[in-house]
Amino acid sequence: MNHEVVIVGAGPNGLLLAGELRLAGVPVLLLERSPLPGGEPRANGLIGRVVQAMDLRGLYEPLAGRPGPPAPTPWFQFGGLPLDLSAVADNPLFALPVPQARIQQVLEERARDLGAEIRRGHEVTGFGQDADDMQVNVRTADGDLRLRTRWLVGADGGHSLIRKQAGIPFPGSNDDRFVSHMGHAVIPADRLDSDGALALPDGRRLMPFAHNRLPGGVFTFARLGDTGEAYLVAVMEWAGRGREAAPVTFADLQHAVDRVLDGALPLGRPTRPSPLLRRLEGVTIRQATRYRAGRVLLVGDAAHVHPAVGGPGLNLGLQDALNLGWKLAAEIRGWAPPGLLDTYLSLIPI
Ligand SMILES: Cc1cc2nc3c(=O)[nH]c(=O)nc-3n(C[C@H](O)[C@H](O)[C@H](O)COP(=O)(O)OP(=O)(O)OC[C@H]3O[C@@H](n4cnc5c(N)ncnc54)[C@H](O)[C@@H]3O)c2cc1C
Repeated sequence: MNHEVVIVGAGPNGLLLAGELRLAGVPVLLLERSPLPGGEPRANGLIGRVVQAMDLRGLYEPLAGRPGPPAPTPWFQFGGLPLDLSAVADNPLFALPVPQARIQQVLEERARDLGAEIRRGHEVTGFGQDADDMQVNVRTADGDLRLRTRWLVGADGGHSLIRKQAGIPFPGSNDDRFVSHMGHAVIPADRLDSDGALALPDGRRLMPFAHNRLPGGVFTFARLGDTGEAYLVAVMEWAGRGREAAPVTFADLQHAVDRVLDGALPLGRPTRPSPLLRRLEGVTIRQATRYRAGRVLLVGDAAHVHPAVGGPGLNLGLQDALNLGWKLAAEIRGWAPPGLLDTYLSLIPI
C-alpha cells in the first residue's frame, strides 16, 4: 500500500499534525516506537500564542478541564525574572497549566476521532527516497516492514533519525554547567499565602508556576494534575556541579532547594505512590538549518530544541504542526500556489 503521509513519532507535535492533516481529509499514518502512551513526565503547560490556537481548534476546554475562552496571564517571567503584565493593554501572553501526558492524550483522541491511523510498537529504522515517493523501514515485535509513502514527517524528537538521515544540520550548543533537580514534594501549608505564593522568611514571595530567579538558580513550584498534597518542585542551578552517576534521591532535591533558597524551605516526602524524582544535566539549544529536504519535513523538537525555562518547546512545536498541517494538505490537495510549502518554518511571532 502506498501512503500519502507517514509521520514518525506520537509526541504532542506528531499527534497534532496528524489531526490537522485529517481536518483537510488527508490520509495519515503515524508510527510510534513506544508500545504504550505515556512515558516520563515532561512539560507542565502551554505558554504563549499556542493557548489561543488550541482554543481555535476547540481544544482549550478538554486541556484545561474547564470552559474557555482562555484569559491572559497577569504575570510571567522573562529570563527567570518576574514580569508584571497586569497593566499591559491587550496582553498577548496566555498560559495553560496542564501536564504533557494529558496534552498527548487529548491530541491522540482527536487524531483518532478524525481518522488518523496510529500504530504503536513501530520503530522507523531508516528510509530511502526516489523521485515520486519514499520507502520507510519499520521494526515491529512481529518483524520488519517496508512501507511506501509520498511524504515523510519527522516528529521524532531532538535526536531525530529522520533529520539525521535527511542530512539536515542541527547547529547549536550544549551547556553542561546547568543541573536541574525536580520531584514531587509537600510544601508546608504555613509557607503558602492565600494567593498561592510561597512566602520566604526574608519577606520575598515566589509565585507558583513561574521560574523564580534567585542568586543561586531558578526555583519553580506548581500543583499540577492529580498529585494529592504534593507539588512539583524544580530547581535549576548554574553552579557547574558536574555530572553525577548515582541515582537521584529526595535528599538531593532538598539539598538543591536549600542551596537556592538558603535553607528556607523544608520539604515533606509525598505519600502518593511512585512520586517523580529526577535530575537533568545540561541544557541544549539547537535548530535545524531547514525544515524540509525534498519530501521529508520536520516538526517540533526534531527541528528545534530549547531550555525549558519559559516553555518555548511546545509553544513553538505545536505551532509548527498548525503551520505545516494546512500547507502540506494544500500541496497534496493540489491547490497550493507554487512555493507555499517552502514557506513552512516556525517563525510565527509569539
Ligand atoms: C524534563 C522536561 C521538561 C520539559 N518541560 C517543558 C515545559 O515546561 N514546556 C515546554 O513547552 N516544553 C517542555 N519540555 C520540552 C517538550 O517536552 C518537548 O518540546 C516536546 O515533547 C516535543 O514534542 P515532539 O512531539 O516534537 O517530540 P517528543 O515529545 O520527543 O516525541 C517524539 C516521539 O517520537 C518517537 N520516536 C522517536 N524516534 C522514533 C523512531 N525512529 N520511530 C518511531 N518513533 C520514534 C518517540 O518515542 C516519541 O514518542 C520539557 C522537556 C523535558 C525533557
